[in-house]
Amino acid sequence: MADTQETARRLAIVCAREQEIGGRLRAGPLGSDDLLRELIQAARAGEDVADRVDTLHSVLEAIGVVRGLYAFDEHGSAGDRGVHAVGVDRGLPAEPVHLCPNARCARFWWPQGPAPVPRCTVSGDALRRERR
Ligand SMILES: [Zn+2]
Repeated sequence: MADTQETARRLAIVCAREQEIGGRLRAGPLGSDDLLRELIQAARAGEDVADRVDTLHSVLEAIGVVRGLYAFDEHGSAGDRGVHAVGVDRGLPAEPVHLCPNARCARFWWPQGPAPVPRCTVSGDALRRERR
C-alpha cells in the first residue's frame, strides 16, 4: 500500500530529475522511457500515480540503479543541504523557497544565484515562490 506523502516525495524526484531518469531508462535494457512518460501524463491528468511511481522505482532498481528513484533525489546532495543549513544556522531571513505549483509533488527549491527557476515536470509551470 503506497503512502501519499511518500508518493509526493517520489513524484518530486521525478519532477526534478525527469531528464536524468529518462536518460537512465533509455540507456537500460528497456531502451525506452515510456514508463516515465506515462507516469508524467497520468500525473498531469490528475490520476492517482502511486502504483506507477512504485513501478518506476522497482524498474530502476531492476536495471541496476541502486536506491532506485532515491538515487536521483536532489535534496540528498551536499550543495542543496548547504544552502539550507547556512541560512538557518546564521539566522538570516529565509530565502523565499519555491514550491511545486502542482500541489501533488513535494518538490522545493531555493534560488541558486542566477539559475532560472525550474519548471514543474508535471504541470509545466515554473515553481511558485512562497514567502513565509
Ligand atoms: Zn512538480
